[in-house]
Amino acid sequence: MIQSTLSTDLINFDTLPAASQSKPSPQTYLDNRVTKSQRGTKRMRSQRARERLRTKEHLERLANELHEVELADKLRRCHSRLSVLTCGRHIAQIIPNFTCEFRLCPDCGRRRSRKLQNKYLPMMRAFLRNRRITPVHLVLTQTHRKETRKQSAKRIKDAFVKLQRRAFWKEFFNGGTWSLEFTKDKNGLHHTHLHIVGFRRKFFDIELLRGEWLAVTGDSHVLNLKPILDIATGLREVVKYVSKPLDIRRFGAEDLREFLKLKNMRMFGTFGEFRDFCKDFEPSDNDAAVGELESLARDLVEGCACPQCSAPLFDLRLSKGELPQFYEQIESSPPGKVGPSWN
Ligand SMILES: [Zn+2]
Ligand SMILES: [Zn+2]
Repeated sequence: MIQSTLSTDLINFDTLPAASQSKPSPQTYLDNRVTKSQRGTKRMRSQRARERLRTKEHLERLANELHEVELADKLRRCHSRLSVLTCGRHIAQIIPNFTCEFRLCPDCGRRRSRKLQNKYLPMMRAFLRNRRITPVHLVLTQTHRKETRKQSAKRIKDAFVKLQRRAFWKEFFNGGTWSLEFTKDKNGLHHTHLHIVGFRRKFFDIELLRGEWLAVTGDSHVLNLKPILDIATGLREVVKYVSKPLDIRRFGAEDLREFLKLKNMRMFGTFGEFRDFCKDFEPSDNDAAVGELESLARDLVEGCACPQCSAPLFDLRLSKGELPQFYEQIESSPPGKVGPSWN
């Protein structure tokens, strides 16, 4: 049963063609105060897989420290054995034995963020069609205060609700999506950023928006706004915080305890006219959008042609520790050299 629920959303982003994989250019981020965490050089897939592994081991240790036995066990089992459909040079699909669905799990987070993209991208594209609006990525920040993560999140969400009620906002924005990013500074203070894909009706002076944000927060005018040139990239930028809410490797047991208290807090949502639009949305053939991604790997079985090179796919069973190794092998092999003889 687990297998059937998983098969539709296990399409590995790594199978996307290079062009759609490219990260936004550095000038995407104009304000370092806001986006420091987003910088960094592009890492290899093997490195990323290894980091996910370490993050999970770290989380499992913390869960054990807190005597959260069930959570620790789930994390240990999540993605511990993998069925990898590969031609030897590309990975078409990865099916894990078990998924823990814990919010901070990097493997489950990736899948969740992909699901959100698959759900909202067609709606965004349809919403943008026939409307004179520009998508923008807006980051709203807050001042540092001594408060819990929960209080900090509530503070920024409440301020955003107030902002949406203001005439300025209604005049210039047509709705969009929001997601929370949690950070913690070196003094241990929590703060939350709100990442918004907003649909802007017309251009306005950014200083006006700063003034509005200051008016509703009382003490913060720091924000960052930049047009989104490609809606798929823009949405991906924003939902990544849903999968990776903060630097978990610097997490201590107390941080985890606090995070567990956020259990029912929403981290992503829609607002304004876009929200209403989503409720009534019926996808047409034109909106198959992300289907590009889904159909790529759907229904693939052993013996099918690799979507990238047409070589036959075979099923490779790996333990979690072997996945980074396999990526490494792929990365270091000259084209055509790796094959079914891998193990
Ligand atoms: Zn998981
Ligand atoms: Zn291939």
